[in-house]
Amino acid sequence: MSGGSWGELALAGGEPVLGSLAPVDWPRTTDADRAAVLSVLDSNLLVSDRTNGVTAVERLERSWADYLGVRHCVGVSNGTTAIELALLAHGVGPGDEVVVPALTFVATAMAVVHVGATPVYADVHPVTYTMTAESLAAEITERTKAVVPVHLHGLSADLAAIGEVARRHGCVVIEDAAQAQGARYRGVPSGASGNTATFSLQMTKNLPTCGEGGLVVTDDERVADRIVQLRQFGETIRADRPRRYVSHRLGFNAKLNNVQAAYTVSQLERFDEYHAARRANVEAFLSRLRHLDGLICPSEPDGYEHAWHILRFAVDFERLLPGVETGAARNLLMRALRAEGMPATRYQMMPLPEQPALRALCHQTPASWPVTQDVVDRSFTLQQRHLPPDAGPLLQSFADAVEKVWSQPKVLQGLAEGAVR
Ligand SMILES: *Cc1c(COP(=O)(O)O)cnc(C)c1O
Repeated sequence: MSGGSWGELALAGGEPVLGSLAPVDWPRTTDADRAAVLSVLDSNLLVSDRTNGVTAVERLERSWADYLGVRHCVGVSNGTTAIELALLAHGVGPGDEVVVPALTFVATAMAVVHVGATPVYADVHPVTYTMTAESLAAEITERTKAVVPVHLHGLSADLAAIGEVARRHGCVVIEDAAQAQGARYRGVPSGASGNTATFSLQMTKNLPTCGEGGLVVTDDERVADRIVQLRQFGETIRADRPRRYVSHRLGFNAKLNNVQAAYTVSQLERFDEYHAARRANVEAFLSRLRHLDGLICPSEPDGYEHAWHILRFAVDFERLLPGVETGAARNLLMRALRAEGMPATRYQMMPLPEQPALRALCHQTPASWPVTQDVVDRSFTLQQRHLPPDAGPLLQSFADAVEKVWSQPKVLQGLAEGAVR
């Protein structure tokens, strides 16, 4: 259908585009995934002991390292722990500052706090939503030990520029690639740039497990060895001798289990196919929306390959709903889209340092993150659980919903004024 022929908005009592809110349909479990999990259960090799490549954890570590073209990969219990152990393995601790973006999932900063260091927040770019070299340079000090750029929503941060600022200040770069499996920067897969990088296998991510899991990748053997120790009580576990129960450093129990690793090894077989399908679906979806006045679609800058984990749409509400307060306008727009069946959500309700759990630990003011505040105020998202590989038709319905809502600005304006009255 094209412009002008849409019926009444569902929010105003009309027929919705979709009969109901689209269901959550991720991850996709196949018979091969089920068989992989069952064979681990039958083997009784359930945790990540070192066995010279026999366990599923070792197979996953080898497969993901080979997939990226890096030397080492260590499986851990989740993506948050992956960041914590990577920071510890690089010697980050009390007294150190770590620069993280002001727009990311809360885990990025919590990991910093949990190793005893202080998170410092850098603003994000208004179009890519990632930390930039400039925003990093504004926050970096002689106390900064590490920088954690986040490849938010599946788009890599500008690693060359960020790396240059970090190097000038003698800081290590640890990439939070939790949302970026499949992404590329200048042709290099996210996680393979030479920095230590962390991934989440949490079931909502692009490369999922059947629950929780995480991976750390690095080319530095000492960093990998430290993480192997840290995930198992600080012990050195070797395949060629029995466990000794000697702890060399204060470690954790942060092991990944073989059931979850086997599931991910099996998923990895279909990962490229899923990634390509998601890219084609999202491109067809966005191509229908880019012309809409006042809607700023997510984009893929030259030299970047987006993994499309989350789609973030920014809105110029001055054009769409002139005179309506931004928060009210955004909420009305989201209600209108949801009424049509498109599950528009907010991803992050506030800049990270304003999270209740983190506020008291932050000594910066909101003047450090104006772009993040603006992005949070005037954007909405569509998340991975609605972007599975066969979501092409569903995304076309979402495009119908957006076009329908955009075709009736006067109705929206009336609803906004009605809500104010
Ligand atoms: C999911 C996520 C994490 C944490 O991963 P978990 O496996 O859920 O602990 C960290 N950072 C970002 C950006 C994430 O999206």
